[in-house]
Amino acid sequence: MNTDDFLKVSFFKNIKTTLKRCWAPNGICHSKPIKAHSIQNSRVFEILSLNGHVIMPKEKIIHKGEDLIVDFVEIGRNEASTFTGLCGKHDKELFSPIDDFEIDVSNNQQLFLIAYRSVLKKFHSLALTARGTEKIYEDQVKVGRATRDLGDPSLNLMMNQYMLAWAAYRYKEIYDEAYLACQYDIVSHGKFSFKHKKPTVAISALYWLEIAKPNSTQVPWIALNVFPTQTETYVVFSYLVEDAEYVKSEIEGMLNASVKRRLWQLSERIIGLSITHKLGKGEVDYGESTKTGAI
Ligand SMILES: [Zn+2]
Repeated sequence: MNTDDFLKVSFFKNIKTTLKRCWAPNGICHSKPIKAHSIQNSRVFEILSLNGHVIMPKEKIIHKGEDLIVDFVEIGRNEASTFTGLCGKHDKELFSPIDDFEIDVSNNQQLFLIAYRSVLKKFHSLALTARGTEKIYEDQVKVGRATRDLGDPSLNLMMNQYMLAWAAYRYKEIYDEAYLACQYDIVSHGKFSFKHKKPTVAISALYWLEIAKPNSTQVPWIALNVFPTQTETYVVFSYLVEDAEYVKSEIEGMLNASVKRRLWQLSERIIGLSITHKLGKGEVDYGESTKTGAI
């Protein structure tokens, strides 16, 4: 068994027993995870919330379980866009530079941390989905709706979810190592901002492009973060420097477009990520103002 396979087997074994753990970058932390925010609660939600609430996309099962739709619902700002992948100490330690200070979009450490939080959140979400898919598969086997034979569709679905979680875990490891070594420049950022009449939307998302990288089992991932101040909304796409050639068309296409076209494309991307939320294509954490409509 080569090293990569060994790590993969170890990951699959551990993910089952350690989902309720802190995924801080410095090894195993046994502290209980908290509901950590993937969007700045104190600053961004302060600007976006109305009566302590924001609007978020939420999946809704309809037609007796046959269909899934995305609905927009009001949610308390303290509950919005949280994930349980970090303990309180590590959440504070890792993200204090972006939670306790104004974001300066020329500050590489802050931009790295914003993307890092999207990566952690996405990995955690994919791990939960993989585990959930396995439970459903096991139930299907019990009642004879699935088998343990190679090629069984439910088995394939479960394995695909685990492979996605594994890919996200390996991607998270790249960020972990860079964080510990303070090598924030391994991540590049494409960014722009626009003046708004009212702050409307905040996003923390991570998605991947369906592009095979030569000699690699990874795909290029992109973190998308959108956050407002009182007067302006900032949009930041973050990717590994080594992935620059693969993400170029995706990001430059938007950055080189007119402002109107750019915002149109951004809206399409955000809506696309919201709709495919549960289909595994991407993950979006979305805090939209209750004050106004979309951007
Ligand atoms: Zn911890």
